[in-house]
Amino acid sequence: MEKISQITTGKAKSLYTTNDEQYLVMEFRDDTSAFDGKKTAALENKGKVNNQFNAFIMEFLSTKEINTHFIKLLSNNESLVRNLDMFPIECVVRNRATGSLCKRLGIEDGYILETPLFEFFLKDDDLGDPLINDNHIISFGWATKEELGVMQSITLKVNEILVDFFSEANLLLIDFKLEFGKFKDQIMLGDEFTPDGCRLWDKDTLNKMDKDRFRQDLGNVIETYGEVADRLGMQIKLD
Ligand code: ADP
Ligand code: UDP
Repeated sequence: MEKISQITTGKAKSLYTTNDEQYLVMEFRDDTSAFDGKKTAALENKGKVNNQFNAFIMEFLSTKEINTHFIKLLSNNESLVRNLDMFPIECVVRNRATGSLCKRLGIEDGYILETPLFEFFLKDDDLGDPLINDNHIISFGWATKEELGVMQSITLKVNEILVDFFSEANLLLIDFKLEFGKFKDQIMLGDEFTPDGCRLWDKDTLNKMDKDRFRQDLGNVIETYGEVADRLGMQIKLD
Protein backbone atom coordinates (compact mmCIF):
# COMPACT_ATOMS: atom_id res chain seq x y z
CA MET A 1 0.00 0.00 0.00
CA GLU A 2 1.52 3.29 -1.12
CA LYS A 3 1.72 6.49 0.94
CA ILE A 4 0.27 9.28 -1.22
CA SER A 5 -0.23 12.59 0.58
CA GLN A 6 -0.18 13.77 4.16
CA ILE A 7 -3.64 14.59 5.47
CA THR A 8 -2.89 15.52 9.07
CA THR A 9 0.04 16.02 11.26
CA GLY A 10 -0.85 15.89 14.92
CA LYS A 11 1.38 16.35 17.94
CA ALA A 12 2.91 12.85 17.70
CA LYS A 13 1.66 11.15 14.54
CA SER A 14 1.05 11.96 10.88
CA LEU A 15 -1.58 10.39 8.64
CA TYR A 16 -1.24 9.76 4.92
CA THR A 17 -3.74 8.75 2.28
CA THR A 18 -3.09 5.58 0.27
CA ASN A 19 -4.27 4.38 -3.12
CA ASP A 20 -7.30 2.88 -1.33
CA GLU A 21 -9.52 5.43 0.43
CA GLN A 22 -10.44 2.85 3.09
CA TYR A 23 -6.89 2.81 4.46
CA LEU A 24 -4.42 5.33 5.86
CA VAL A 25 -0.76 5.11 6.76
CA MET A 26 -0.16 6.19 10.35
CA GLU A 27 3.39 7.38 10.98
CA PHE A 28 4.56 7.60 14.58
CA ARG A 29 7.07 10.44 14.96
CA ASP A 30 9.63 11.06 17.71
CA ASP A 31 7.78 14.28 18.65
CA THR A 32 6.40 14.24 22.16
CA SER A 33 4.10 16.71 23.80
CA ALA A 34 2.38 17.23 27.12
CA PHE A 35 0.11 19.79 28.76
CA ASP A 36 -2.00 20.22 25.60
CA GLY A 37 1.06 20.88 23.46
CA LYS A 38 2.72 23.41 25.80
CA LYS A 39 5.74 21.15 26.51
CA THR A 40 7.37 19.50 23.49
CA ALA A 41 10.53 17.53 22.65
CA ALA A 42 11.78 14.99 20.13
CA LEU A 43 12.74 11.75 21.89
CA GLU A 44 15.00 9.48 19.82
CA ASN A 45 13.30 6.20 18.80
CA LYS A 46 9.92 7.10 20.29
CA GLY A 47 8.19 6.75 16.91
CA LYS A 48 9.54 3.24 16.38
CA VAL A 49 8.90 2.09 19.93
CA ASN A 50 5.34 3.46 20.04
CA ASN A 51 4.40 2.16 16.58
CA GLN A 52 5.43 -1.39 17.47
CA PHE A 53 4.03 -1.12 21.01
CA ASN A 54 0.68 0.00 19.60
CA ALA A 55 0.66 -2.80 17.00
CA PHE A 56 1.25 -5.39 19.72
CA ILE A 57 -1.56 -4.08 21.96
CA MET A 58 -4.03 -3.61 19.08
CA GLU A 59 -3.36 -7.17 17.85
CA PHE A 60 -3.75 -8.49 21.38
CA LEU A 61 -7.08 -6.61 21.77
CA SER A 62 -8.29 -8.07 18.44
CA THR A 63 -7.81 -11.55 19.88
CA LYS A 64 -10.21 -10.47 22.66
CA GLU A 65 -12.89 -9.40 20.17
CA ILE A 66 -12.20 -5.66 20.28
CA ASN A 67 -12.57 -4.13 16.79
CA THR A 68 -9.64 -1.86 16.01
CA HIS A 69 -8.42 0.22 13.06
CA PHE A 70 -5.07 -1.59 13.00
CA ILE A 71 -4.34 -3.67 9.89
CA LYS A 72 -0.58 -4.30 9.84
CA LEU A 73 2.88 -2.93 10.47
CA LEU A 74 4.43 -1.31 7.38
CA SER A 75 7.80 -0.36 8.84
CA ASN A 76 9.35 0.22 12.24
CA ASN A 77 7.50 3.54 12.60
CA GLU A 78 4.49 3.16 10.27
CA SER A 79 1.27 1.14 10.35
CA LEU A 80 -1.60 0.63 7.96
CA VAL A 81 -4.94 1.50 9.59
CA ARG A 82 -8.57 1.81 8.58
CA ASN A 83 -9.62 5.34 7.65
CA LEU A 84 -12.05 6.22 10.45
CA ASP A 85 -14.41 9.12 10.87
CA MET A 86 -13.19 10.07 14.35
CA PHE A 87 -15.39 11.27 17.22
CA PRO A 88 -13.95 14.50 18.73
CA ILE A 89 -13.95 12.79 22.12
CA GLU A 90 -11.40 11.20 24.46
CA CYS A 91 -12.58 8.26 26.55
CA VAL A 92 -10.64 7.94 29.82
CA VAL A 93 -10.89 5.18 32.39
CA ARG A 94 -9.11 5.22 35.73
CA ASN A 95 -8.35 2.55 38.30
CA ARG A 96 -6.47 4.87 40.67
CA ALA A 97 -6.72 8.64 40.97
CA THR A 98 -3.79 10.66 39.66
CA GLY A 99 -3.16 13.53 37.22
CA SER A 100 -6.05 15.84 36.39
CA LEU A 101 -8.54 13.94 38.60
CA CYS A 102 -6.51 14.67 41.75
CA LYS A 103 -6.22 18.35 40.83
CA ARG A 104 -9.93 18.65 40.02
CA LEU A 105 -11.26 16.95 43.15
CA GLY A 106 -8.40 17.34 45.66
CA ILE A 107 -7.96 13.58 45.95
CA GLU A 108 -4.70 12.04 47.21
CA ASP A 109 -2.41 10.76 44.44
CA GLY A 110 -2.74 7.00 43.97
CA TYR A 111 -6.17 6.68 45.67
CA ILE A 112 -7.60 3.26 44.70
CA LEU A 113 -11.05 3.79 43.15
CA GLU A 114 -13.94 1.56 44.32
CA THR A 115 -14.79 0.79 40.68
CA PRO A 116 -13.13 1.94 37.43
CA LEU A 117 -14.09 5.57 36.80
CA PHE A 118 -15.06 6.44 33.21
CA GLU A 119 -14.87 10.03 31.89
CA PHE A 120 -15.37 11.80 28.54
CA PHE A 121 -13.21 14.76 27.48
CA LEU A 122 -13.66 17.00 24.46
CA LYS A 123 -10.64 16.69 22.14
CA ASP A 124 -9.71 20.37 21.87
CA ASP A 125 -6.21 21.52 22.82
CA ASP A 126 -7.13 25.22 22.70
CA LEU A 127 -9.75 24.61 25.39
CA GLY A 128 -7.43 22.27 27.36
CA ASP A 129 -9.51 19.13 26.58
CA PRO A 130 -12.39 19.94 29.00
CA LEU A 131 -14.32 17.27 30.93
CA ILE A 132 -17.77 16.75 29.37
CA ASN A 133 -20.69 14.43 30.06
CA ASP A 134 -23.18 12.41 28.00
CA ASN A 135 -25.56 15.37 27.73
CA HIS A 136 -22.93 17.65 26.17
CA ILE A 137 -22.10 14.96 23.62
CA ILE A 138 -25.73 14.38 22.66
CA SER A 139 -26.77 18.07 22.67
CA PHE A 140 -23.83 19.17 20.54
CA GLY A 141 -24.19 16.18 18.21
CA TRP A 142 -20.64 14.90 18.78
CA ALA A 143 -22.06 11.34 19.03
CA THR A 144 -25.46 9.74 19.62
CA LYS A 145 -26.57 8.21 22.93
CA GLU A 146 -26.08 4.75 21.41
CA GLU A 147 -22.62 5.61 20.08
CA LEU A 148 -21.38 6.99 23.38
CA GLY A 149 -22.74 3.93 25.16
CA VAL A 150 -20.73 1.71 22.80
CA MET A 151 -17.54 3.76 23.33
CA GLN A 152 -17.96 3.59 27.10
CA SER A 153 -18.59 -0.14 27.19
CA ILE A 154 -15.65 -0.94 24.86
CA THR A 155 -13.35 1.28 26.98
CA LEU A 156 -14.38 -0.52 30.18
CA LYS A 157 -13.89 -3.90 28.49
CA VAL A 158 -10.40 -2.86 27.28
CA ASN A 159 -9.64 -1.85 30.87
CA GLU A 160 -10.60 -5.30 32.19
CA ILE A 161 -8.48 -7.01 29.53
CA LEU A 162 -5.43 -4.80 29.96
CA VAL A 163 -5.42 -4.60 33.78
CA ASP A 164 -4.83 -8.38 33.79
CA PHE A 165 -2.38 -8.26 30.89
CA PHE A 166 -0.17 -5.57 32.45
CA SER A 167 -0.47 -7.20 35.87
CA GLU A 168 1.32 -10.28 34.50
CA ALA A 169 4.23 -7.93 33.66
CA ASN A 170 4.22 -6.64 37.27
CA LEU A 171 2.62 -3.35 36.19
CA LEU A 172 -0.41 -1.50 37.51
CA LEU A 173 -2.60 0.05 34.79
CA ILE A 174 -3.54 3.31 36.51
CA ASP A 175 -5.51 5.03 33.73
CA PHE A 176 -5.62 5.45 29.95
CA LYS A 177 -7.24 7.35 27.10
CA LEU A 178 -8.86 5.86 23.98
CA GLU A 179 -10.23 7.46 20.83
CA PHE A 180 -12.89 5.90 18.60
CA GLY A 181 -14.13 6.45 15.09
CA LYS A 182 -16.62 5.02 12.61
CA PHE A 183 -15.86 2.83 9.63
CA LYS A 184 -19.00 2.13 7.56
CA ASP A 185 -21.29 2.57 10.59
CA GLN A 186 -19.16 0.34 12.77
CA ILE A 187 -17.51 1.89 15.84
CA MET A 188 -13.84 0.94 16.09
CA LEU A 189 -10.96 1.68 18.40
CA GLY A 190 -8.63 4.12 16.64
CA ASP A 191 -5.58 6.21 17.43
CA GLU A 192 -3.10 4.39 19.71
CA PHE A 193 -2.50 2.52 22.92
CA THR A 194 1.06 3.25 24.05
CA PRO A 195 2.76 4.54 27.23
CA ASP A 196 2.08 8.05 25.82
CA GLY A 197 -1.65 7.67 26.51
CA CYS A 198 -1.75 5.59 29.67
CA ARG A 199 -0.23 5.45 33.12
CA LEU A 200 1.68 2.37 34.23
CA TRP A 201 3.29 1.99 37.64
CA ASP A 202 5.69 -0.76 38.67
CA LYS A 203 3.78 -2.94 41.16
CA ASP A 204 6.61 -3.18 43.70
CA THR A 205 8.17 0.28 43.57
CA LEU A 206 5.22 2.32 42.16
CA ASN A 207 7.80 3.86 39.77
CA LYS A 208 6.20 5.63 36.80
CA MET A 209 6.77 3.75 33.51
CA ASP A 210 4.83 6.06 31.12
CA LYS A 211 4.67 9.61 29.74
CA ASP A 212 4.68 11.06 33.27
CA ARG A 213 8.47 10.50 33.01
CA PHE A 214 8.43 13.19 30.30
CA ARG A 215 5.79 15.38 31.96
CA GLN A 216 7.68 15.37 35.28
CA ASP A 217 11.26 15.36 33.87
CA LEU A 218 12.05 11.98 35.43
CA GLY A 219 14.43 10.99 32.59
CA ASN A 220 14.93 7.73 30.64
CA VAL A 221 11.55 8.10 28.95
CA ILE A 222 12.06 5.83 25.94
CA GLU A 223 14.34 3.42 27.81
CA THR A 224 11.45 2.92 30.25
CA TYR A 225 8.90 2.39 27.44
CA GLY A 226 11.37 -0.23 26.14
CA GLU A 227 11.43 -1.93 29.54
CA VAL A 228 7.62 -2.15 29.55
CA ALA A 229 7.76 -3.60 26.03
CA ASP A 230 10.35 -6.20 27.14
CA ARG A 231 8.28 -7.22 30.14
CA LEU A 232 5.26 -7.78 27.84
CA GLY A 233 7.35 -9.92 25.48
CA MET A 234 7.51 -7.44 22.57
CA GLN A 235 10.48 -7.48 20.26
CA ILE A 236 10.98 -3.87 19.22
CA LYS A 237 13.16 -3.23 16.15
CA LEU A 238 15.13 0.02 16.05
CA ASP A 239 17.24 -0.53 12.89
P1 ADP B 1 -3.18 14.95 18.40
O1 ADP B 1 -4.36 14.91 17.49
O2 ADP B 1 -3.62 14.81 19.81
O3 ADP B 1 -2.24 16.07 18.15
P2 ADP B 1 -1.70 12.76 17.13
O4 ADP B 1 -0.43 13.34 16.68
O5 ADP B 1 -1.66 11.45 17.79
O6 ADP B 1 -2.36 13.65 18.23
O7 ADP B 1 -2.68 12.80 15.91
C1 ADP B 1 -3.29 11.70 15.38
C2 ADP B 1 -4.61 12.17 14.78
O8 ADP B 1 -5.13 11.11 13.99
C3 ADP B 1 -5.66 12.44 15.86
O9 ADP B 1 -6.40 13.59 15.49
C4 ADP B 1 -6.55 11.20 15.83
O10 ADP B 1 -7.87 11.47 16.25
C5 ADP B 1 -6.48 10.83 14.36
N1 ADP B 1 -6.71 9.41 14.07
C6 ADP B 1 -6.29 8.35 14.81
N2 ADP B 1 -6.63 7.18 14.23
C7 ADP B 1 -7.29 7.50 13.08
C8 ADP B 1 -7.89 6.72 12.04
N3 ADP B 1 -7.86 5.39 12.05
N4 ADP B 1 -8.50 7.37 11.01
C9 ADP B 1 -8.53 8.73 10.98
N5 ADP B 1 -7.97 9.52 11.94
C10 ADP B 1 -7.35 8.91 12.98
N1 UDP C 1 -4.37 11.38 28.22
C1 UDP C 1 -3.95 11.38 26.91
N2 UDP C 1 -4.14 12.48 26.15
C2 UDP C 1 -4.74 13.60 26.62
C3 UDP C 1 -5.18 13.60 27.97
C4 UDP C 1 -4.98 12.48 28.74
O1 UDP C 1 -3.40 10.38 26.43
O2 UDP C 1 -4.90 14.57 25.86
C5 UDP C 1 -4.19 10.18 29.05
C6 UDP C 1 -3.11 10.38 30.10
O3 UDP C 1 -1.85 9.91 29.61
C7 UDP C 1 -3.60 9.50 31.24
C8 UDP C 1 -5.13 9.56 31.11
O4 UDP C 1 -5.39 9.96 29.77
O5 UDP C 1 -3.20 8.17 31.03
C9 UDP C 1 -5.78 10.52 32.08
O6 UDP C 1 -5.15 11.78 31.96
P1 UDP C 1 -5.52 12.98 32.94
O7 UDP C 1 -6.95 13.36 32.73
O8 UDP C 1 -5.10 12.66 34.33
O9 UDP C 1 -4.73 14.20 32.36
P2 UDP C 1 -3.27 14.76 32.59
O10 UDP C 1 -2.96 14.67 34.05
O11 UDP C 1 -2.43 13.91 31.72
O12 UDP C 1 -3.43 16.17 32.09
